[in-house]
Amino acid sequence: MDHHRSSHLTQAFIHLDHLTHNMNLLQSLVGDRPLWPAIKANAYGHGAEIVGRHLMDMGYETLCVAHVSEAIDLKEAGLNATFIVLSATLPENSEYLVAYGCEPVVCTLEMVEGIARVASRTGKKVAVHLKVDTGMGRVGIRPDQVVEFLDRCRDYPEVTVKGIMSHFPMADEEDKSFAVRQIDLFRQVKEASRGYGISVYHFANSAAIFDLPDAYFDAARPGISIYGLKPSLSMLNPRVKELKPVLEWKSRITFLKEVPAGTGLSYGHTFHTQTPSLIATIPLGYGDGMSRLLSNKLQFLIHGIRCPQVGRICMDQCLVDVTALRGRVEPGNEAVIVGKQGNDEITVDDLAQTLGTINYEIVTNIAKRVPRIPLKA
Ligand SMILES: *Cc1c(COP(=O)(O)O)cnc(C)c1O
Repeated sequence: MDHHRSSHLTQAFIHLDHLTHNMNLLQSLVGDRPLWPAIKANAYGHGAEIVGRHLMDMGYETLCVAHVSEAIDLKEAGLNATFIVLSATLPENSEYLVAYGCEPVVCTLEMVEGIARVASRTGKKVAVHLKVDTGMGRVGIRPDQVVEFLDRCRDYPEVTVKGIMSHFPMADEEDKSFAVRQIDLFRQVKEASRGYGISVYHFANSAAIFDLPDAYFDAARPGISIYGLKPSLSMLNPRVKELKPVLEWKSRITFLKEVPAGTGLSYGHTFHTQTPSLIATIPLGYGDGMSRLLSNKLQFLIHGIRCPQVGRICMDQCLVDVTALRGRVEPGNEAVIVGKQGNDEITVDDLAQTLGTINYEIVTNIAKRVPRIPLKA
C-alpha cells in the first residue's frame, strides 16, 4: 500500500488470524473436500489482494471471483491462483479468460465456442464449469438441458467441462425444504452426467456448509463465512457462533466543538441539539461507503461508550455527540464503526439491521479510499 494512503484516518483492519480460524472451522465441516473461497468484489470489501494472498499462504490454490477483470488484477498483483470466474460473461471476454488461465463458469454454447476458438489459436486447453439452475432462477441451464449441452461440448476438444455447479437462493433460511429439493435435482443431474468425465460437482455456499451437509458433493465455495460473518440471522447450526469477524472499521476524531442548545447540525439541519453539547467530527462519510441512510441512526464506540451520530452523514465527514465524554475526549481519539472497544462491540450485522440490508452489502460497500490494513495476530 502506498504510504500516503494510510494517512486516511478511516481505516479497515483485517485480522488475518481470524481468517485462518474461519477457514479451519469451514474445513472441519467439509472434511477433506477442497474449499474454493470467494474473494469477489474486493473480497467482500476486505481487500482481495490481502485476503487472497493469505489464503494462498494457507494452501488454498483455487479462488472464486465474479469477473475476469478481478482475476486479472489479482494475477497482475502476483497471486498465481486458479481463478474460477463465477458470473456469466460474453464471448468477447474469452481472450482474457484464456490468457489468464481462468476457469470460467459457462451456461451458453456461445461461451464455450468463444473460449474454444481462442484456446485452439493459442494451443491451450481450458477447464470450464457448467452452471445448472436448480432453482436460483438466475444464470444457468435447466437440469433437463444438461446432457444435450454436454454432448454439444464434445465438438470443442479444447474445452474440458471439469465441473458442474449450482447455487442456492434460500439455504440461509430456517426452512430448508426448497434447498433440499434443489439438492435432489442436482443429484439427478449428477446421475445423468455420468460418463461425461465431470470431475467436480460443487454446490455449497456458506449457508449450505453450515446447514446442509448433503450439499457438500466434491468442493464448496464459501464466501461470507470466511470473513467471519453469518450468512443470515436464521442459521440452524450452532457452530456459526464460532466464526470470528475479520474486519474492524475504525476512524478518529478530527475536531471537537461545544455548541449551545438549539444548534442545527450538518446539511438540512435534520438534528438540533436539545442541550449544550460537545460535538465531534469524524472523517467518515458516504464517500467511504457509509450509507447516508444511516444518518442519525449510526453509533460509534468512543472510550468504550456508544455515542450517537447526529445530523446528515456527508460525503467525507459526519458528526457525533460526545457530550457524555466531556473532559475525557480529544482530537485523535479512536471512534469504532465496526469492532470492539472496551467491553462493547458494534457488529456488521448491527449496521445491516439498522439500515435494513444484509451484512454482505455493508462490507462490500466500504470504499476504495479506506485503506485495508492487514494484521497478523
Ligand atoms: C458469491 C457466491 C458464493 C459464496 O456465497 P456466500 O453466501 O458468500 O458463501 C458461492 N457461489 C456462487 C456462485 C457465488 O456467486
